[in-house]
Amino acid sequence: MHIPASDQTFTMTIDGRPVAGATEFNVTNPVTGTFLALAPHCSDEQLDQAVAAARAAFPAWAALALEDRRQYLRTMADTIEAHTELLADLVVQEQGKPRPVARAEVAGLAYWLRATADIPLVETVNQDDSERRSITRHVPLGVVAAITPWNYPLGQASFKLGPALLAGNTVILKPSAFTPLANLKLGEVLREVLPPGVLNVITGTGGLGSRVTSHPGFDKISFTGSTTTGRTVMASAAANLARVTLELGGNDAAIVLPDVDVKQVAPQLFWAAFANTGQICLATKRLYIHADIYDALARELAHLVATVTLGDPAQDENVELGPVSNLRQYQTVVDLLNDCRDQGYPFLSGGLPDPDSAGYFIRPTLVDNPPDSARIVREEQFGPVLPLLKYTDTADAVTRANDSEFGLGASVWGADTEAAYAVAQQLQAGTVWVNESMHLHPQVPFGGHKQSGIGVESGQAGVLAFTNAQTLTIKHTSTAA
Ligand code: NDP
Repeated sequence: MHIPASDQTFTMTIDGRPVAGATEFNVTNPVTGTFLALAPHCSDEQLDQAVAAARAAFPAWAALALEDRRQYLRTMADTIEAHTELLADLVVQEQGKPRPVARAEVAGLAYWLRATADIPLVETVNQDDSERRSITRHVPLGVVAAITPWNYPLGQASFKLGPALLAGNTVILKPSAFTPLANLKLGEVLREVLPPGVLNVITGTGGLGSRVTSHPGFDKISFTGSTTTGRTVMASAAANLARVTLELGGNDAAIVLPDVDVKQVAPQLFWAAFANTGQICLATKRLYIHADIYDALARELAHLVATVTLGDPAQDENVELGPVSNLRQYQTVVDLLNDCRDQGYPFLSGGLPDPDSAGYFIRPTLVDNPPDSARIVREEQFGPVLPLLKYTDTADAVTRANDSEFGLGASVWGADTEAAYAVAQQLQAGTVWVNESMHLHPQVPFGGHKQSGIGVESGQAGVLAFTNAQTLTIKHTSTAA
């Protein structure tokens, strides 16, 4: 199903109602770099209305039996699935990813909601004896701001919506201004599911994110985005001590040990780096390859890079990679490619795009063994460029992999899994995979070390991050006469 976004109308969801923007802003098609659709811009008054609606809805939502909220999450999942094609089509148009991947993104949102519905909210009995009964339980925080980036417009929401709502909070979802459309449609289709005010969806340009984080009406900011913005969010939240979860940038290292089957791991490493055109926080962004297999693996990867299908995913189901998602990110990646060229680092395949070509396409590019000081090694590219880095000593590879301000994910690849696991244990990252990459699960918490974030999402810890711990104590003194 394909309905041009320009033929559709998009409204915010505030207090369960459709709300047109005070003004509108343009959303761009990354395939062409031209106008895609109009989206509503949230005014200060509308932000106040959304916060007021969420605050008003909070007491009744928090007072529901937990089983009722679990059921709401399941009904949300059913409703989202029933609108898979509509939602996926919008993700394709505004974000530029292949249609099957966009469908999987919608399915993932439904899957995450269902799985989250089954997560227990535990109470801990601290003491239960003749003197006292003491219990610690987890109570909701209040109103949550869910601020998300553009790489997985719906996928990013899935880590926040289910846990926040299950715990008894109400939510204001603010997607990236680059990709507002699928989230606006999500709010629309969920109007029939949730009580008014429980989930509000607002969009806007020109600093809506900072207007949200500096608004005193939020009890928690759940933020996914860059490390630079994360610092600003944390500073804003300090004003009223709103809780924060920060899922930030990464520069994930993969270490390939010399005993791998090169032909077998090459496609896995290719997709670890280039899926979603490299625009994944947990994508492999530095590939450390043992010198014994460097040339053979580089050759395999170069072949994959040269033969992958790029194109317009709205027109062709078989496209494997779409464009970079927006002009800002395109310019970031081109700037890094220019730096590689200026410094004389060889490209094994790919390279700078033709400046006259339409849209934001960049063919996946391998950079041949640049120095550790290179910008493409030190900075997060968040796009389809991968530095291949040669090593001879595993301990040295670990030191180089850990020499980063980031600590989001990492992976180790080897035929001897025990040896690979021993290397994995030395890496400084929130998630370290052996012989796979980027595998996430609703029951498994993930989050960043170092400047890749604070706190975790998913799993029981991800739900508890949307609560305050509260201890209730009963002293067993007889008040009887
Ligand atoms: P940004 O930090 O630019 O934006 C993220 C979100 O924050 C957007 O909704 C944006 O809104 C909003 N925002 C921008 N400025 C502010 C502000 N001052 N206060 C509050 N909110 C603000 O990141 P990108 O969207 O460019 O996403 C790419 C980054 O996200 C990469 O660094 C990537 O690694 C990281 N990321 C991390 C993930 C993780 O789980 N750790 C997962 C995915 C991405 P708008 O753009 O509309 O202004």
